[in-house]
Amino acid sequence: MATTYPAAVQQSIPVGPEPVRCVCPSCGAQIISKMKYEPTTKTHLIALLLCCCICWPCVCLPYCMDSCQNANHYCPNCDAFIGTYQS
Ligand SMILES: [Zn+2]
Repeated sequence: MATTYPAAVQQSIPVGPEPVRCVCPSCGAQIISKMKYEPTTKTHLIALLLCCCICWPCVCLPYCMDSCQNANHYCPNCDAFIGTYQS
């Protein structure tokens, strides 16, 4: 019995805070996603708060903390964007 998936379900691949094994939607290869952390609005807000309230040397802290940033997943083969994990 053949397994058929509705075409609509395809697109977004659920990703987590760690690299995921999946099929790249762009090149179709079986890959383990490559991750890049990118600052979000929250990151900038925390940095601003630290800057105003505590002391400026702490400003770089939220940029160093993974939990304050979005985790973007990319294909290691073709660099296609796979998904974002928001913590
Ligand atoms: Zn790819």
